[in-house]
Amino acid sequence: EMITNQMPTAELQALDAAHHVHPFTNQDELTSKGARVIMRAKGVSLFDSEGVEILDAMAGLWCVNIGYGRGELADVAARQMRELPYYNTFFQTTHVPVIALSAKLAELAPGDLNHVFFGGSGSEANDTNLRLVRTYWAEKGKPEKKVVISRKNAYHGSTMAGASLGGMSGMHAQGGLPIPDVHHIDEPNWYAEGGDMSPDEFGLQRAQELEKAILEFGEDRVAAFIAEPIQGAGGVIVAPDTYWPEIQRICDKYEILLIVDEVICGFGRTGNWFGSQTLNIRPDIMTIAKGLSSGYAPIAASILSDEVAAVIGGTEFNHGYTYSGHPVAAAVALENLRILEEEKIVETVREDTGPYLQKKWKALADHPLVGEAKIVGMMGSIALTPNKETRAAFKADVGTIGFKCREHCFANNLIMRHVGDRMVISPPLVITKDEIDTLIERATKALDLTL
Ligand code: PLP
Repeated sequence: EMITNQMPTAELQALDAAHHVHPFTNQDELTSKGARVIMRAKGVSLFDSEGVEILDAMAGLWCVNIGYGRGELADVAARQMRELPYYNTFFQTTHVPVIALSAKLAELAPGDLNHVFFGGSGSEANDTNLRLVRTYWAEKGKPEKKVVISRKNAYHGSTMAGASLGGMSGMHAQGGLPIPDVHHIDEPNWYAEGGDMSPDEFGLQRAQELEKAILEFGEDRVAAFIAEPIQGAGGVIVAPDTYWPEIQRICDKYEILLIVDEVICGFGRTGNWFGSQTLNIRPDIMTIAKGLSSGYAPIAASILSDEVAAVIGGTEFNHGYTYSGHPVAAAVALENLRILEEEKIVETVREDTGPYLQKKWKALADHPLVGEAKIVGMMGSIALTPNKETRAAFKADVGTIGFKCREHCFANNLIMRHVGDRMVISPPLVITKDEIDTLIERATKALDLTL
């Protein structure tokens, strides 16, 4: 029998569970419940196999920044596929889409981040970064500078290097991670770990853990520090104001390369083109993916400073992916950037719809179940707590309450994700004020049902 859109939902679900192994999913649980089958999407809405409209407050996986259903990207992809569906840029060849996209990214990226190495995913880009920083120091005659410092509860991908750089203990536990010479310091999560300290004191203390780690390893052994401007998958953890200036000072002082993972924060999410601009960070290397193509094609990159590129340029960097700078993905990304620019989507997030969402999101802190509400641009989180005063967690069953809330959202046609006891949102940046009202109504209803 042909498998088509017309097939009954239950049959599609059974086939899915029988043959498709899902990422980050308990397959047995999925088999008993059946995955929701998503058929099509438009703007901020998904439509499932029963025709039900779902408000996607996660923009897929934090990526569909320009919203669903932009036919221009489909047209560009089809045109490029006819013209030149594939060629690589290994061994002294190139093509126009990758030239144009590299030049455009050099223009958009802050400072002297002018050189782009492409990959197919954020994980791949961070794998590139790991080999790149070690190669950089080896080229500078310091091959012993190999250690990369990251943070607990960071997310940098699912490959061996990506998951090692990441600080998710559940991921490290599977497959024998992290790989050698990767070290994790504590995260700047004041709400969960700040105790009686003020956020500013705590931010400073957590940043100074970087300095301590550098001194413990010896600065002649540390290659780089990697971090997300705002931890996304970790629960939208916004560091206290004192944190990033201190991190920047330490990286400068000890000549540690600073890799800023902009996979979520890039391309308007925080109200500027890059999270580094919002938080005043000066990266040596930036990881980008997701919003680069708004998820319409798999593409990612590392953007290197003039200095890093010059050093790497002195050797043959024995690294590359078949799909590095894929012409169709590059053309789609360029069209996505054109739309973000011409429709002033980043400015709208910064000045209009962003502040509108922020005001309503922060008001959720008045709900009896909510201990704090954080939001920058259009990435937000709320912490669920049994005790607003002490900021206590639901200790016996961390994650259970979040999962419950997430299920109430899902049943109520809102996709909001839970990370432990935090609920997070990252809607398409084109979300309108009316749609924001709907998002907040449904989120409030889910919180009421969870209470
Ligand atoms: N880095 C960050 C900050 C991410 O949020 C993600 C994905 O969520 C990645 C890297 C990995 O990207 P990918 O899933 O495209 O490999």
